Amino acid sequence: MEKIFARLNEEQSIAVKNTEGPVLILAGAGSGKTTTIVSRLAYLVKGVGIPASNTLTLTFTNKAAKEMRERALGMMEDVSYPPLLCTFHKFGLLFLKFNIHLMGRKNNFVVIDTDDKKRIIKKINSEIATPLIASEISRYKNSLMTPDDAYKQAELYNYQQIAKVYEEYEAYLAENNLVDFDDLIALTYKLLEDNPELAKKTSEKYQYIMVDEYQDTNELQLKLLQKLCSTHNNICVVGDDDQSIYGWRGAHIRNIMEFDQDFENTAVFKLQNNYRSREPILKVANALIEHNRSRLGKELKPTRGSGEDVVVLNSHDESEEARKIATNITKLIDSGVSAKDIAVLYRVNVLSRSIEEGLNRARINYKLVGGQRFYDRAEVKDLISYIRVITNFNDDFSFKRIINKPKRGLGKASVDKLELSAHAAEKSIFEFIKSSSVAELEALVRKKNAKTLKQFIKDIQSVAKVAEESTYNFIDVLEDTFSLKDIYKSQPDEQERILNMDEFYALFRDFIKNNPESGLDEFLNELTLQSEQDQVEGESIYMMSIHASKGLEFDHIFIIGMEEGFLPLVGDGSDLEEERRLGYVSFTRAKEKLTLSHVSSRFYKGRRSDLEKSRFFNEAGLCQGSLKLEKNTAFKKGDLVRHKIFGTGRVLGVSKAGKEFKLNINFAGTKKDILASFIERL
Ligand code: ATP
Ligand code: MG
Repeated sequence: MEKIFARLNEEQSIAVKNTEGPVLILAGAGSGKTTTIVSRLAYLVKGVGIPASNTLTLTFTNKAAKEMRERALGMMEDVSYPPLLCTFHKFGLLFLKFNIHLMGRKNNFVVIDTDDKKRIIKKINSEIATPLIASEISRYKNSLMTPDDAYKQAELYNYQQIAKVYEEYEAYLAENNLVDFDDLIALTYKLLEDNPELAKKTSEKYQYIMVDEYQDTNELQLKLLQKLCSTHNNICVVGDDDQSIYGWRGAHIRNIMEFDQDFENTAVFKLQNNYRSREPILKVANALIEHNRSRLGKELKPTRGSGEDVVVLNSHDESEEARKIATNITKLIDSGVSAKDIAVLYRVNVLSRSIEEGLNRARINYKLVGGQRFYDRAEVKDLISYIRVITNFNDDFSFKRIINKPKRGLGKASVDKLELSAHAAEKSIFEFIKSSSVAELEALVRKKNAKTLKQFIKDIQSVAKVAEESTYNFIDVLEDTFSLKDIYKSQPDEQERILNMDEFYALFRDFIKNNPESGLDEFLNELTLQSEQDQVEGESIYMMSIHASKGLEFDHIFIIGMEEGFLPLVGDGSDLEEERRLGYVSFTRAKEKLTLSHVSSRFYKGRRSDLEKSRFFNEAGLCQGSLKLEKNTAFKKGDLVRHKIFGTGRVLGVSKAGKEFKLNINFAGTKKDILASFIERL
């Protein structure tokens, strides 16, 4: 117990002990929100005596979940049953595993990743841009719209077509027992919605719910949380409106702003101290975010004292930038800084490439979080496809990927013919080959191929049998039966690919060792979730996108690509505010020192472009003579406005208050002076 409260301030301690009913903790970066939630979990279990299995703690990234779990277990010491602390998607996966049969689907479904999703879409329609369809389908699912709803809502012809693709896509997933990322949450919600008994039981099981990074939840996640809380309303969420960076994915800032309306009798806590960053870092971050109009406007007091100034690196091009950063990192490591306390962040993944080269040249080890991932490599996907087919013979999508790997002499035309015939017979390709005679197959493909195909089917069946008997032996039998390492034989990168395959086999064995009860489908689903954010352990620096860095902290942060067009990535309006929040999130990851880098030109999308340095330098007060231009307030006398607490009122006057504007407002007869950033125009 002492362990839990030793490092908390008074406000945090009160919030931790406030275990009943809805709690909102709203505070800026590095103020100890995650610390509070983790301590609360430990307090519930160790202090109040709630069984760990009756709690549920949710966050957004695997890395954040892992760190939280370690911190919580550190405070709890011996617990017989670890609390469920995971991402929303992982929770959905577990839930569906146990309940998806209630909607007539089998529990051995396979979760597909974004890449698979795009390939399926492309197969259905290659005319409309695949990313557009993919994001629309995602939007439909997150708004709980069926293909029918989407069709009704579509006015433009293009959108009618997208609705049609959606319909076929859904049919394809159902037919092959596949589930996409959005389904993990949407289907979970649907099951709870359609089965009141199940909803009640689930809510009773998870009596205490906690959510980190609440500002990034979307409407569907809110609805899901409401379902989970329906029998008790014990929900504690923490978040920061200034760190909402998933607007493009439908996250609703309103969820945090109006939490008290979604959950009645909310207790609100505000944390005021920043325990993470040295003063100069905080000053720059605060100056930047102050330029956003739509924010609650929170004050953060530095507690860690002064430190090194924020450094601006100015380079000619990306190679010089990479050299400078590598030199800086080498110096840090030579001076005794541990590599894992250093991170390089960027707004878009492509920017990592030049830095990777620089780090390789300087022999600095790095881990890439996200981006070109281990699981995205062709040879790894081949292995995954084999395992998928073995767990589900009817997965045509994966079957086609492996049918000619290693080469079995089948051309694309033969595969197409097989697929067409299978389709006509209303069978999966596997079933079709299995049920056809050699003679029938010879009519479709070359003679010797017919026999090869029959043998292929037999091999798959026999390996599947091994998998049922012993998952641990399975992987060796798989390699021996199909000689998978021959797939890339005599290719220039054969060695590297075989290394990756071996790494994958090792990963598989590890998983089975740690989860001896699990079958192949559990392994596959775990993989898909992991791959969204894979990481390797060891002594090396981190490289990741700003999105992936949310909630994390490092002593030394380098942010590259601080140019117009990269950060901010987009120009004006509300998007610019989200870009600024991304800037704020990235700056506030740093504990000791922050380095911001920009270049005069960059090679990008096939050509070299001249770039201007980011406006954020200026806004953060990092340019000479950068005294901020006066913000122009959008309010004038007579405007009808709204305040979160005081309600609707009319502006009587506008005046300056430091860098801000102050409004004198008449709220139903009561006059008040309020900073413009707290006011919304009606
Ligand atoms: P973010 O908004 O970036 O997610 P956060 O509000 O979740 O940040 P934490 O990660 O919980 O902040 O805490 C930031 C740092 O401050 C951590 O290193 C944590 O250990 C430390 N910290 C938290 N609370 C206290 C406290 N009361 N006293 C001293 N240090 C603290
Ligand atoms: Mg946090």
